[in-house]
Amino acid sequence: MNFELSREHEEFRRSVREFARAEIAPHVEQWDREHHFPVETVQAMGKLGLFGLTTPEEYGGAGGDFTSLCVGIEEIGRVDQSLGITLEAAVGLGINPILTFGTDEQKRRWLPDLVTGNRLAGFGLTEPGSGSDAAATKTRADLREGEWIIDGSKQFITNSGTEITSLVTVTARTGETADGRPEVSTIIVPNGTPGFVVEPAYRKMGWRISDTHPLTFEDCRVPEDHMLGERGRGFAQFLAMLDDGRVAIAALAVGCIQACLDLSREYAGERTTFDVPIGSKQGVAFQLADLAVMAEAARSLTYKAAALKDAGRPVREFKQAAAIAKLYATESAVTATRIATQVFGGYGFMEEYPVARFYRDAKVLEIGEGTSEVQRILIARGLGLPVE
Ligand SMILES: Cc1cc2nc3c(=O)[nH]c(=O)nc-3n(C[C@H](O)[C@H](O)[C@H](O)COP(=O)(O)OP(=O)(O)OC[C@H]3O[C@@H](n4cnc5c(N)ncnc54)[C@H](O)[C@@H]3O)c2cc1C
Repeated sequence: MNFELSREHEEFRRSVREFARAEIAPHVEQWDREHHFPVETVQAMGKLGLFGLTTPEEYGGAGGDFTSLCVGIEEIGRVDQSLGITLEAAVGLGINPILTFGTDEQKRRWLPDLVTGNRLAGFGLTEPGSGSDAAATKTRADLREGEWIIDGSKQFITNSGTEITSLVTVTARTGETADGRPEVSTIIVPNGTPGFVVEPAYRKMGWRISDTHPLTFEDCRVPEDHMLGERGRGFAQFLAMLDDGRVAIAALAVGCIQACLDLSREYAGERTTFDVPIGSKQGVAFQLADLAVMAEAARSLTYKAAALKDAGRPVREFKQAAAIAKLYATESAVTATRIATQVFGGYGFMEEYPVARFYRDAKVLEIGEGTSEVQRILIARGLGLPVE
């Protein structure tokens, strides 16, 4: 058993950390306040190689492993969760579906710009009436005279409306299976296609620097060859994408917990009450100890799941590890932000202090890419229980 990341992973961690400290940290409070999506910084993350980490070299990527991506997301997320999710979604929901299921032509057309971070792509699964029950999609796509005609709407779609977004991949009903169930397929819709409308951005409690929109499709026509992968395989495709996504979200949560620990430890050494640093009071020191335990445990579960993926272990084994890591790391992140805010006292409630931003940002970790309840269902099923 090896509990250490490789030297290469650690060097990579250092370079991402330096980047995040120099290029993100000085601006993050202002971007968050202004709900500003910093295109230049996202493209600088692309130049650092963050978006192409796991894409093979023939499509412009670095051909690296999934563990590296988790390291990158953790370190960006340690400074800013919004840019962490921007990276996570760009790779996990933008690049990966095309890389995994696309034809060679689709890969050559779309990937080079996405892996350099020049452009972004979104993945439209969630709808106003279907989130956890994602198979209940109502969006339709009908094939007529060589075109898919898409009608419907999607909700909460990350990276879908930035000035550098080139496409969204959407799931849609394309018919019925032989046994009468909806046939769900995945279709690439380039930005600017008539009938595809990116609605105004949400006003969000957290992740304010990231880009999230509702989308509508009305008589939106794309060529037949924009189908991604096999017709009728949409359900299986997004399930596979979400397994990876859960580990990546766990890595984002690890960054959040680590940030809470770093900020709280520093503050507990500086802030004095009753003539001594608050860190010398057991009540505060124990809270820091709890943060350290959460950081260590969440990191171990996350990188164990990533290592299983990199080792090509059976899907069943990886699925369970991914759900466990996501559940523990994200719920711990919410607890960690509550503790850190408490350590900062009244200052923790003020927007100038990063712990306030982490507190707002953390909650959605328990919701996106499968809620905590959905993770518990998956884990219980992994135990062999017939949970609905
Ligand atoms: C900021 C943000 C960004 C997002 N980005 C994307 C994106 O890029 N692409 C995309 O497709 N989606 C995206 N999502 C959507 C996200 O994945 C969904 O919000 C999530 O899956 C939950 O779906 P829902 O909101 O419809 O909640 P619901 O499914 O309606 O759930 C409501 C509550 O009921 C619980 N619940 C539901 N079913 C069960 C059950 N069987 N047993 C027990 N409890 C249950 C849930 O856990 C939850 O607590 C994003 C969401 C947010 C907030």
